[in-house]
Amino acid sequence: MTSWAEKVQEIEFPIDLLIGGVSIPAKDGERMDAVSPIDGRILCRVAMGGAEDIDRAVIAARTAFESGCWSGLAPIARKAILLRWADKCEENAEELALLISLEMGKPADEALNVEIRAAVTALRWFAEAVDKITDEIPHTDPGALALVRREAAGVVGAVVPWNFPLTMAAWKVAPALAAGCTVVLKPAEQSPLSALRFAELALESGLPAGVLNVVNGYGETAGEALGRHEDVDILTFTGSTKVGRLFMRYASESNLKRVWLELGGKSANIIFPDADVEEAARVAAWSIFFNQGEMCTAGSRLLVHESIHDRVIEIIREVALTMQPGDPLRTGAAAGALASAEHLENVTAMVEKARAESGEPVLGGRAALPESGGYYFEPTVFDRVHPKSFIAQNEVFGPVLAVMSFSDEAEAIQMANDTRYGLASAVWTKDLDRAHRVARKLKTGLVWVNCYEEGDMTVPFGGVKESGFGRDKSLHALEKFFDLKTTWIKFGS
Ligand code: NAP
Ligand code: MG
Repeated sequence: MTSWAEKVQEIEFPIDLLIGGVSIPAKDGERMDAVSPIDGRILCRVAMGGAEDIDRAVIAARTAFESGCWSGLAPIARKAILLRWADKCEENAEELALLISLEMGKPADEALNVEIRAAVTALRWFAEAVDKITDEIPHTDPGALALVRREAAGVVGAVVPWNFPLTMAAWKVAPALAAGCTVVLKPAEQSPLSALRFAELALESGLPAGVLNVVNGYGETAGEALGRHEDVDILTFTGSTKVGRLFMRYASESNLKRVWLELGGKSANIIFPDADVEEAARVAAWSIFFNQGEMCTAGSRLLVHESIHDRVIEIIREVALTMQPGDPLRTGAAAGALASAEHLENVTAMVEKARAESGEPVLGGRAALPESGGYYFEPTVFDRVHPKSFIAQNEVFGPVLAVMSFSDEAEAIQMANDTRYGLASAVWTKDLDRAHRVARKLKTGLVWVNCYEEGDMTVPFGGVKESGFGRDKSLHALEKFFDLKTTWIKFGS
């Protein structure tokens, strides 16, 4: 394989919006510099759509939906096209991975091995699922027949973040399309390129024009226009809790579209003294430093029993040394750049605030590699913070860990649940009773026992409390994109 750095020389950037099967500039001609966080260099100038472009895309999606060119196909025919698209993504995996790495800074190897694989798996899984589900005929009065049919819900707006740009997009788009819906996708402004190429590959695979449209644009313009559009039936969102609230407002002030929210997290990772402490500590470090900490499920609050505290911190230091940020285009890079200059500023400001309140971090705490021109931050650990402190309560979305210690199980559970978020949590113990007991008491959508970040397409993903509602992945995700229609047929006597 040629190196990533060599491949950059050959790459072509998609720079226009994709509406109705055609690549077109924004109506008002607006473009934005796509800046690579790897070195601050301008990759290209990409079209940024506004409300008019969203409207054009929704009209294209509505026209395609009502024409039946997609929703009217037999599920097996939709499946064939989605499977071809998955194959195309695999054939073009290196190009997609490179676009992701260049636009949002993660190591290209990880984009290839984690992100593209996840997106392809989602496409294949929902494609394979949709021709296997059946509808219902309930047992009603024998003089009538009631058919309960799942019908594709219509036009779906999908708004996604930049941390896993293609995985997040695929977790929305794959079930929506499999169900027969049509989609307008608004990627994050930091990751406009991979989504466009992903959608181009869909067209090349036979997806009819207008079934999947991509409108890059700013959240405050394009995102809001999609959220408020009167002809969008469902809005599915992954991003911050703050913006999730706005989407509920947009829906309530427009057509009451259904809104599904996958939001932020401040996940507690609890290590009991009877755990495999070495393994637990290694994974704890990985769970916050992987993907530069830019993970909604990051294990950002480490709750460790006081008797093993020092040993755990020692191991985390060792692992952190191997996860220092470096050039994402270098083969084997363990961590890359934060997504943007703005995000680096945010992370730095949050670390400063934590420093003022909780004291000097025991590890890291500063921006790294300034000579690169990119936006890197050191793996950072604040130890022995107060459970109510700023750093224990707020999502940084960067490689910043808050460590607290506890003395017994009840205290650990209380601390773990002392957050407005409810996305994920983890428990490390060899005691089976304790594992079940604690897992049941944790108020999160996901609980991992003696592991972290385990997942499978068969298993739902999502949170409770202010981490949102609705689930990505699994058949539960597919259900979100159907309406149930009941048809009563009364027989003549
Ligand atoms: P964000 O600011 O909420 O942005 C997410 C998306 O919403 C982007 O496409 C953004 O567009 C758009 N947006 C921003 N402001 C908007 C507005 N006023 N109206 C409509 N749309 C708007 O989140 P982020 O900082 O990019 O991503 C990090 C957050 O996502 C974290 O909180 C993280 O936990 C969460 N996340 C959750 C999950 C999960 O599954 N639960 C997964 C990954 C990430 P612009 O880019 O143009 O601003
Ligand atoms: Mg923004």
